[in-house]
Amino acid sequence: MADYIYTMELRLTPDQLKGVGLVQDVARAAGMNLYLTGGAIRDIISGFSIRDLDFTVQGNPLKLVKDFEKAGAKITAVEEDIRTIFLALPGNARAEVSMARTERFEKTGKPPIVMPSTIHEDLRRRDFTVNAMALSLNEGSRGLLLDPFNGVADIEAKLIRILQNYSFLEDPSRLIRATRFAARFHWPLEERTQARYDSAKEGKYIEHILKSSVGHEIAALAHEDDPLNVVKMLEKEGWLEVLHERWTSAKVDVNGITALMKTRQQMVDLGYTPDAGPAVMYFLTSHFSDKDVADIQKLIPRKDLVEAWRDIEDHAKELAKRLMGKEAATPSRTWQLLSSARPEMVLFLAVTAKQQSVEQKIKNYLTKWRQVQQKIPLPEMTELLITPQLPIYPKLANDVFMLLLDGKLRSRTETLKFLKPFAPPPPPPPPAPRRGRAAKAAAQAAGQPAAAQPAKGKKGKAAAAAAAPPPPPAPAKPEPKAAAKGKPAKSAPAPAKPVAKPAKTQMAKPAAKKPQNKRK
Ligand code: ATP
Repeated sequence: MADYIYTMELRLTPDQLKGVGLVQDVARAAGMNLYLTGGAIRDIISGFSIRDLDFTVQGNPLKLVKDFEKAGAKITAVEEDIRTIFLALPGNARAEVSMARTERFEKTGKPPIVMPSTIHEDLRRRDFTVNAMALSLNEGSRGLLLDPFNGVADIEAKLIRILQNYSFLEDPSRLIRATRFAARFHWPLEERTQARYDSAKEGKYIEHILKSSVGHEIAALAHEDDPLNVVKMLEKEGWLEVLHERWTSAKVDVNGITALMKTRQQMVDLGYTPDAGPAVMYFLTSHFSDKDVADIQKLIPRKDLVEAWRDIEDHAKELAKRLMGKEAATPSRTWQLLSSARPEMVLFLAVTAKQQSVEQKIKNYLTKWRQVQQKIPLPEMTELLITPQLPIYPKLANDVFMLLLDGKLRSRTETLKFLKPFAPPPPPPPPAPRRGRAAKAAAQAAGQPAAAQPAKGKKGKAAAAAAAPPPPPAPAKPEPKAAAKGKPAKSAPAPAKPVAKPAKTQMAKPAAKKPQNKRK
C-alpha cells in the first residue's frame, strides 16, 4: 500500500510542511478531525506542483480563527456561508480550511443549501474524481487515503471526470474549472464528462454562475504555472468573457507575463519561493482600464491578493529608487538590499524596471554574483579549521563573499591572507606514551581503583598533567591588518598553524535557500 504521508512529506515545500503541522496542532487541540483534501492530494499524487493546501475539518473552522492567529497564521478571507477560512501560513504557503459539508442545489443559479457532514459525505459534493480524495491527518488513521470515486485511477489515466451527471447543471463554474485543469495538466475530459460539458455549453448553463464563483476562478488564474495558456483556453471555450465581459487575450501583456514566468522559474531554481500571483494578475489585466481592474478586484475574495496586486507598482518603484541610491552603491550593498527585499518584488522589478542600472543590478544578483561564491576557498578553509562549527563562521563566510563581490579580495592568496588570522588554535597533541616507572605506576593505578586518586609528589603531578584539559585559547589579538580592508569580526581568535587535515566540511552558501518543488 502506498505511504501517502511519506509522499506528502517528500512533495511539500518546507513551508507547506510546517503549515500542515500548524493546522494539525490547532485542529487536534480543538478536538476536530482533520483531512488534507482536494487539489493538494491530487497534486501530491500526480507530481504536479502543489500551489495551496486544502484542509477539511469535521466541525466549524470559523471557531478556530483565534487559534490559527495565535499559532502564527494570517486569516486572509472568511466565507461564512460555506464555513471556510483562508490562511497565509508562515513563509510563503497558502491554505484553505473548510467545514466538511453537503451541498443541496435546489434552484439553478442559487447558492446551495449547506449542511455540516462527515468527510465521506463531503467528498461526494466535489467537482471531479481527482479532486474528491482525502488524506487522514488524525491519530489512529493518519495516512489513510479516502478515495471513494477512484481518483487515483483517473490520475493514472490522466482524465478529468465528473462525479455525477448533473454536476455542470448544479454548479456551472465547474465548466470553467474543467477547462482550467485540462489546460494546466493537458488531461482530456473523460468521454461522458465531455458529452455533459458539451450539452452544458450548448444549454448556456454558464449564465447561472454565482458571482462568488467568478471571483474564485479569477483568483485561481493568479497561481497558474502557465497562465497565458490557461487564459487562451478559457477564451477559446468562451469562459474568459464570463469572468469579465471585456476580457480577451488582447488585454494581456504577453511579453510581460512571458518574462515574468521565465524569471520566476529562474528564482525557483535558485531556491526562492516568490508568490507570483499579484504580478500575474497585473500582466493578465495590463490593457484594462483602471475602473475595469477595480471591478475585477472587487470580485476576488482573497483580499491579500488584491492588496498586493494594487500596491505592486508602488512597491516596485520604492525598491527601484533604493537600488539607484547610496544604499546600493556597491555590489555587496546591492546584494544585501536585494536579499532583504521580498522575492516577489525582486521578481516584478526584474521584468518591469525602467532604469537600465536597476535592471542590471537585479540581473547580476540573480546570475553573475552567484558565481562569485565559487571563489570562496573551501578546501583551504577546512585546512585552517575554519568550518561551520565555528561560531564566527557564518559572519566570516559572509564577509569573504562581500569582499569578493566588491573586488576587495582579488585572488585566492589575498583571501587566505584575510582568513588566516581567524583560524582557531589547533587541538592539543595526544599525550606522550609513558615509559619506565611512570608507566608502571599508571598500570598499577589502572588495576587498583583505590589508587586512581592523584598521588602527592612527582608521580602525582605527572598523572594530573595527563588528565588536564587543553590549554585555554590565547587571548584575542587586535584586529589583523588584512581585515581592516573590509568588515572583519570585532575580535578574532589567535592565529594558529594548520594541523592534520580534518574531514571535509561543507560551507553554508550565503543566502542559499532550499529549492521548492518543481513541476514534473
Ligand atoms: P488549484 O490547484 O487551482 O488550487 P484546487 O483543486 O485546489 O485547484 P480549489 O479551488 O482550491 O481547487 O478548491 C479546493 C477543492 O474544493 C477542490 O479540489 C475541489 O475538491 C473542491 N471544489 C472547489 N470548487 C468546487 C466546485 N465548484 N464544485 C465542487 N467542488 C469544488
